[in-house]
Amino acid sequence: MKYVIASNNRSKREELQRILSALGIEIVTARELGHEPPEPEENGETFEANALIKAKAFAEVTGLPAIADDSGLCVDALGGRPGVQSARYGGDHDAQSAIDLLLSELQGVPMEQRGAYFACSMCCYWPDGKVVTAEGRCDGAIAFERQGDGGFGFDPVFLCKEGGCFGTMTDEEKDRVSHRGIALRRMAELLAQ
Ligand code: IMP
Repeated sequence: MKYVIASNNRSKREELQRILSALGIEIVTARELGHEPPEPEENGETFEANALIKAKAFAEVTGLPAIADDSGLCVDALGGRPGVQSARYGGDHDAQSAIDLLLSELQGVPMEQRGAYFACSMCCYWPDGKVVTAEGRCDGAIAFERQGDGGFGFDPVFLCKEGGCFGTMTDEEKDRVSHRGIALRRMAELLAQ
């Protein structure tokens, strides 16, 4: 069984591809199948709702089951923001300006109040309407300044509870503890059933 990766975010797609391939799951992109990737409006109020919107759109266009991830960073001191709005935090700017904004919003906040977590909702949608979902979460805190330049998005300022900053981890280290790695391993178990 082949699955389509339902994401237009290149960094995320690379992570999904890397983790799923290692789990023996065959994946393709919409473009590889000759389809223009859909760009559905992510107007759900939860990660789960947005993952379903994306997976459904890609399954309908390609006729194959599609796996989508919706994820984001929830910061305690900001009442859980940016959360589902993470990709649009501070406007549609690049990751560097999103990090600058986050650090400025947390200016003066001591380490013990800088708790945060990454959440990931994974959804597999089949063209016949069948749906399987899996969740992953990674707890940690927001650093005072950038550490490393690995990964993408907020990685350079996310200190994982297990130790280390996402920005300085190797791909394998991040996949082992990340919200996406956790959700994908759960999803792989469900798909194997
Ligand atoms: P979406 O799921 O495409 O709506 O966007 C998720 C957004 O959350 C990304 O654009 C990043 O800003 C952030 N994000 C999600 N997962 C990660 C991660 O593993 N590292 C860093 N940032 C992430």
